[in-house]
Amino acid sequence: MSDLSIDLTTLSISRVLVIVAHPDDIESWCGGTVARFTELGKSVAYVICTSGDKGSSDPSLTSQQIATMREAEQLEAARILGVSSVTFLRYPDSEVESTLTLRRELVWHIRYHRPDLVITHDPVPPYRLHPDHRAVGRATLDALFPCARDALTFPEQIRDDGLQPHITPEAWLFATEVPDLWIDINRTLPRKIQARLAHHSQYSDPQALERSWHKRAAETGLPAGLTAAEAFKQVDLR
Ligand SMILES: [Zn+2]
Repeated sequence: MSDLSIDLTTLSISRVLVIVAHPDDIESWCGGTVARFTELGKSVAYVICTSGDKGSSDPSLTSQQIATMREAEQLEAARILGVSSVTFLRYPDSEVESTLTLRRELVWHIRYHRPDLVITHDPVPPYRLHPDHRAVGRATLDALFPCARDALTFPEQIRDDGLQPHITPEAWLFATEVPDLWIDINRTLPRKIQARLAHHSQYSDPQALERSWHKRAAETGLPAGLTAAEAFKQVDLR
């Protein structure tokens, strides 16, 4: 293990919440890490802001049909990684903005799940970034700090829904240009790829996809001296 990677067994993390824009984002960027957490017996929950309803080039399908198909694929991918709690917020694909409405909804889910760690998109990369990824990463960080912490922010959640303010100690951002944390996924890479392959609507050649994910894991691991890794930017929220 290099100095740049951490041993997940030494972390005092019991609950992980992963907040993403689309079905398949988790399997693409942090599925190997999710599998490491679930095999250690940690609780992992997903909040997925859209149902990926624009994600098909088949002109015969309606957005509703695509959403239904992609939610089913996401549930199967979650099952493969040992995750049973999956919530779809059903914002329209490619139209997500970092609004107060989204932030309020994310604060609700953070207060409900009370995670020790949130994993989400890095909203900062300026070029070639899906606008939904930017919006969800931004809204999630704003929800985490300071909104979920402060009792006077969205107090109706405390008054009416029985939730409590919550401090999440840290966030890990994926698809980042400034990684400072590498997770060894050598053991869980096959499950990550199996989960990614559950998104049948999102590829045509499974062998090519498998090769590309092996290559990406190896390239990501290089700076940390790992044979297969996922990389994150750590954000201290305490
Ligand atoms: Zn996405």
